[in-house]
Amino acid sequence: MADCIFCQIVNKEIKADIVYQNDNFIAFTDINPQAPVHILIIPKKHYAVAEMPADLLAAVVPIAQLLATEKGVDNSGYRLLVNSGPDAGQEVEHVHWHFLAGKKLGPIA
Ligand code: AMP
Ligand code: ZN
Repeated sequence: MADCIFCQIVNKEIKADIVYQNDNFIAFTDINPQAPVHILIIPKKHYAVAEMPADLLAAVVPIAQLLATEKGVDNSGYRLLVNSGPDAGQEVEHVHWHFLAGKKLGPIA
């Protein structure tokens, strides 16, 4: 997807602070962090939320757990969330998980 900002990050056409990657995913710091630790986990391939294959879906939580350990928040905890559609405030169509941690996050909505 040529005009997708996250595809451009995957393709290294836009710089990002990449904190993790494997064959199928990359994770990078959110440009507008909402918590001391705010990382986006995305599949390298462009999917909308509902298109994500089950095997890739199952790989997300282990990546979050790994990030939690790396960032030292495995005991204090983290929030992992996906926005889908306008009511959730989704801005980028390429599916992404927000990994938020490092403070008391308060209610979700
Ligand atoms: P959402 O509202 O769930 O679609 O979230 C999109 C997120 O992408 C927001 O938290 C933005 O701050 C973040 N974002 C947009 N562009 C970039 C970028 N170039 N690098 C890192 N994060 C970005
Ligand atoms: Zn994309």
